[in-house]
Amino acid sequence: MSIRAMSVVCVGAIGVASAAEVPVHYDWLGEDGRLRGGFARIPADPPVQIDHGAIVGIERLPFGDLAEGPGQNRVRTVYLGDGYLENELAHYAHRVQVSAQQVFAAEPLRTYEPLFEVFRVDIVSNESGVSHDPTFPLWRDTALGMRYWCNNMERLLCVNTNAARAFAQAATNPAQPDLIIALANSNKYGGAGYPSLAIGTAAANNSAASQIIIHEIGHALGKLADEYTYGGPTVYTGREPAAPNSSIYNAQQQLAQGRKWHRWIGENIPALDGVHSTFEGSSYSEEGVYRPTNNSMMRSLNRPFNAPSAEALVIEIYKIVRPIDAVFPPQGAVNNCETLSVTPVQPFDHALDIEWFADGVPLAFSGSTLDPCDPALGLSGSVLIEAVVTDNTEFVRDPEARDLYLTDSASWTVDIPAACPADLNGDGVVDADDFFLFLQLFAAGDPIADFNGDGVIDADDFFAYLAAFAQGC
Ligand SMILES: [Zn+2]
Repeated sequence: MSIRAMSVVCVGAIGVASAAEVPVHYDWLGEDGRLRGGFARIPADPPVQIDHGAIVGIERLPFGDLAEGPGQNRVRTVYLGDGYLENELAHYAHRVQVSAQQVFAAEPLRTYEPLFEVFRVDIVSNESGVSHDPTFPLWRDTALGMRYWCNNMERLLCVNTNAARAFAQAATNPAQPDLIIALANSNKYGGAGYPSLAIGTAAANNSAASQIIIHEIGHALGKLADEYTYGGPTVYTGREPAAPNSSIYNAQQQLAQGRKWHRWIGENIPALDGVHSTFEGSSYSEEGVYRPTNNSMMRSLNRPFNAPSAEALVIEIYKIVRPIDAVFPPQGAVNNCETLSVTPVQPFDHALDIEWFADGVPLAFSGSTLDPCDPALGLSGSVLIEAVVTDNTEFVRDPEARDLYLTDSASWTVDIPAACPADLNGDGVVDADDFFLFLQLFAAGDPIADFNGDGVIDADDFFAYLAAFAQGC
């Protein structure tokens, strides 16, 4: 009862803003080594003023595409620590390093690491450890207000989400952080994923910490459901879950109706948890709801994400990162024969595909830089040139998502001078050199001397060249 009373007091103090609720998944590792947890809607945190003086360091970590330097077109990921005294920060930094290494060893995050930018913010709290560790009540004065027993649930390790966002923005300013991982100075099993706020929490000091963080990134970034059966009613009776990796429809229904992970059913992908079908038991219930594979990361630690979960993560990454990093010259009108270029993002293992179009017609060219005035392209006049960049990764099968998020384009309107057929040596002027070159080619029977293109080299070609020569360029 005292716990209930405490939370009512807190909610009352929030005022009008308390009407809002925040969805959160929480997880811990049971004594049998199995993952447990649940889902809750908890009151939104009140606005806070953070103490910027508590920040004693901001480090950009050696993950992601360092060659680009701090950029805007990345998943801006920020690690925060709570309940650390200044002399404990070296330990925190080590935990962050270990965590990030494991995060970027897990597919699809491994392949897409270059699309991330990772920061560590060092924050000093007034007390060591976080609230209600090991048990309730035990309040501690910490910078991020991390606490167990959040919303009366022992293992729900909450963070003040407004404080977390404000501290994280100190690293990404002026941009907003895209993914926040808040580590508690604790070894009590606990963790949470806030899908609507892209925040994950974990206790930094237990052996499962790095794996819990990967799981929480599944919730926070991928908006994934838990696939374990602990914690809810035996039989699931709710509507179709929003998450891409949980469904009330079995394989036959998914295939017939084109639902959820129907594109993956029947696939055996060892790196993504093996056989894909519909396995009964997911989202905290044993019956009436299905998961895509037998035992993925959203069900057990030390397991890979399954294909629908990996697909969702890649799509969410591309909701943040545009496939084209840079365009030159700036899109719009280009007055001369400037080379046009696009720089796609560069995941490990594969390059994005580039297609070029002139007034909507595909060009036989797939490089990243195009000379629109190259005579081989045969373009002239005012032409709309478009470069379309697509990540055709095998992680994604949903064509609509590929069109919406994994595809990007740039376009320019280019004024291309008409070709100058009489300038045979291509030096930009029509002069005697071109005339003598034509005579030489004509005498040698060179195909270029077939000036009117009728398949024979004869007097007609000679007169056609004379006419073009007289016209100049
Ligand atoms: Zn979970």
